[in-house]
Amino acid sequence: MKTNKVILPGSTICILGGGQLGKMSLIAAHQLGYHTIVWTQGGDAPAVEMATYRFAAPFTDNNTFASVCHLADVITTEWENIPIWLLEKFEAAGKLVRPSSKIMAIAQSRRAEKEFAESIGANPVPWVFVKAGDSLPAAATTLDFPIIIKTDRLGYDGKGQTSIYNVLEVPDTMPVDVVIEKRIDLKGEFSILVARNSNDEITVSPAVKNTHEEGILRRSKWPNEFSDSEFETEAQNIVIKMAETLELEGILAVEFFVSTNNELFFNEMAPRPHNSFHGSIDAAYTSQFEQHIRAICGCRLGSLNFHSKFTMTNIIGNELNYWLLEDACLPVIHGKLHIHGKNEIEPKRKMGFFNKLSK
Ligand code: ADP
Ligand code: MG
Repeated sequence: MKTNKVILPGSTICILGGGQLGKMSLIAAHQLGYHTIVWTQGGDAPAVEMATYRFAAPFTDNNTFASVCHLADVITTEWENIPIWLLEKFEAAGKLVRPSSKIMAIAQSRRAEKEFAESIGANPVPWVFVKAGDSLPAAATTLDFPIIIKTDRLGYDGKGQTSIYNVLEVPDTMPVDVVIEKRIDLKGEFSILVARNSNDEITVSPAVKNTHEEGILRRSKWPNEFSDSEFETEAQNIVIKMAETLELEGILAVEFFVSTNNELFFNEMAPRPHNSFHGSIDAAYTSQFEQHIRAICGCRLGSLNFHSKFTMTNIIGNELNYWLLEDACLPVIHGKLHIHGKNEIEPKRKMGFFNKLSK
């Protein structure tokens, strides 16, 4: 649904989900003079303490739903797996949901994302969808090995993915829907962030280069070898087309691969703040979180350009102690440290990040 409504400071923004992306969006919302609501289902939720109103209840809870309807002027998400039925229920109740349930539904399924990307002329890596219980080997042989099997839904930080190097290793079936992708040799990976508001205003970021370790984002860097390249321009055109086609009201981060033989591929998209743009808090004229709030409120957009060079390094698991306590970090600690404030440290869990800036 296209709506032109502007939400001014003093109004109330509801964020569904309680993770670090919500926390940083809330900080930006308060900085711009908004009141906020967080609705989480409980658990270790760093966003909760930032909000004006806090609800910890299952998403099926009708009392919380009624309270949010009463208090909120606009509803957004920080987690792409918020149930679509909940977003549709808010929309049916006449509430503004930005980005819309339609966009969120696409981002919840790798198949839907790839089909959408193809529909606007972007190029995903060769892929095939296999329904739960259907034969995998038959589908896998339509692609060149090696391949990666990814769950269609709910994957993140490399979870739900298996790389397979020959047909004998392919499982007969999977208990859930999957996509199989050709595993390509990467020259590199980058992401682009686009913002669009209900007045058709669009801004696009430069390409931020991403380096992964064990499927988890480790570093994001700007500038990089893709800066001012044809890959960057082509990818920017793709994400602008995506934002226009979806009538996006909010921000959308899109991940791209560049292969060793210089082909550009669409990887995946997320209609929310994205880890690879955490550097924007300290290095961009407008951070991705502020841009998210401006975009969902129908305000004029800022600039996603960077005024400083940066490398963002994720702090994972018990590396937190290194950054906070150990002498070894002293040569590199001059920068901006951001700690998410999660109660439990777990291996492979993102605990914070460090922005190293330079001129
Ligand atoms: P997640 O939701 O976990 O971010 P991705 O599909 O983005 O899932 O995969 C995580 C990382 O795994 C990618 O950023 C890339 O480094 C690697 N990867 C995923 N798919 C492929 C592929 N088809 N070819 C090569 N590398 C891949
Ligand atoms: Mg990814």
